[in-house]
Amino acid sequence: MNSLTRRLTLPFVAFVVAGSLALVLWFGAEEKRQSREQFAAIARTNAAFIYAQNLPNSERTAQALGEVLGVSVHFLDPQNSWLPNVDGWSKSSADEYHALPAGGGVFMLNESYEAAAARISKGRSLLLVRPVEHLSDFLFRPRTLGVLAAFWALSLGLAWSLARGIVLPLRRFAARLPHIADENSEPLPEASRTDEIGQLARAYDSTRAKLADERRAREQAERLATLGKMTTGLAHEINNPVSAIKLHTQLLEGEIADMHGERLSIILAETAKIESLVSQWMFLARPQPPQLSPCDLADLISASVKTLAPAAAHANVKIVNQLVPGLLVNGDRRRLAQAFDNIIINAIHAMSARGGELRIECRATNDGGRKHIVSFTDTGAGFSTAAIARGTELFFSEKEGGMGIGLSVTSEIVRAHGGELRLTNAASGGAEVSLYLPAVN
Ligand code: ADP
Repeated sequence: MNSLTRRLTLPFVAFVVAGSLALVLWFGAEEKRQSREQFAAIARTNAAFIYAQNLPNSERTAQALGEVLGVSVHFLDPQNSWLPNVDGWSKSSADEYHALPAGGGVFMLNESYEAAAARISKGRSLLLVRPVEHLSDFLFRPRTLGVLAAFWALSLGLAWSLARGIVLPLRRFAARLPHIADENSEPLPEASRTDEIGQLARAYDSTRAKLADERRAREQAERLATLGKMTTGLAHEINNPVSAIKLHTQLLEGEIADMHGERLSIILAETAKIESLVSQWMFLARPQPPQLSPCDLADLISASVKTLAPAAAHANVKIVNQLVPGLLVNGDRRRLAQAFDNIIINAIHAMSARGGELRIECRATNDGGRKHIVSFTDTGAGFSTAAIARGTELFFSEKEGGMGIGLSVTSEIVRAHGGELRLTNAASGGAEVSLYLPAVN
């Protein structure tokens, strides 16, 4: 038996034993009291009968009545108040008798006999004598046994609910606790309880959630560290040839723009994509604090839309701008442009199969304009539940060939600006990405 069960069992058993004893004694005493009352009542009824029938104080009457009642019967009258023929009658019995109330009652004749006296008429009384009944004679009467059975049933119920309500949940906690940091550990069902066990379960659940957050953050940090090492090496290797390609393409533009202008623009656009990718890697690997200056959100977004217009047109995506000019944030232009590009590119990808519409809005929040909100709402299939929860985690991707970097970089950029990125689905079903950025007023 483990120690909590032992700790609860011993006092519980003591409680049941003491309770049973108290019940037996109390009910026994009660039965005895009732028996004495009945004895007194029999004496009273018979005294009234003798009076009504005007029966004499004769030996015959006493004998006949004694046979019916199963006790010995005597009469007391002023002439014979000592009643020398009653066995065990003594001076102290006489004192007890005289101390009775006028109507009579029960008193001890001696150690072995008790008597019930009842007044027949003035100075004349009836005396019924029977052997003394002891408490032990009343202990295990049917009523007492019934009450005892009910008490034990209640005690068993209490023990069962204690075990179910306290011991079992604690055992469950003890079994789950070593696995609290496991990825698929589950919340405890007791968390909905309002008592101390519920508090314990909620503390367990919040610790479990914190550990899960910490684990995710640590994994993210580990991934970043790996990426950092890879990127620093790769960036150097890639940036040099890309810069050379860009430079030579720009030189060629001057010479053969008439014949191959379109192809050269494609080469330049593709090198820009490589540069952007490398820049994102670098940002994740070694995030630099943003270079802040006041920027007009509408200007920045319009520039991103303009750059990505060809890609949008190619995917049959219509971009609808609902931009309010003059909403200023303290931002790093290059980084914010990167964030907007990532979101627009994702929206174009999400609608590339059937085309659609991307609505971009920016406005001030209702709290006196302390933040500006930029929201991008598309008409694609919307975020999956996993993407809403984990879309900003590095390397989280549900796209074929996706790297899971775009939203992670975007959210880091927004965070570095003191803002917040929210992923939801619009009522129409498409994805909605909102950026909350501190405003400059
Ligand atoms: P990647 O595009 O390489 O997958 P991101 O970090 O940009 O990486 O996006 C992560 C995931 O978020 C995507 O794989 C996709 O599941 C989801 N996602 C992002 N934008 C959208 C969108 N506009 N509509 C639906 N899902 C999206």
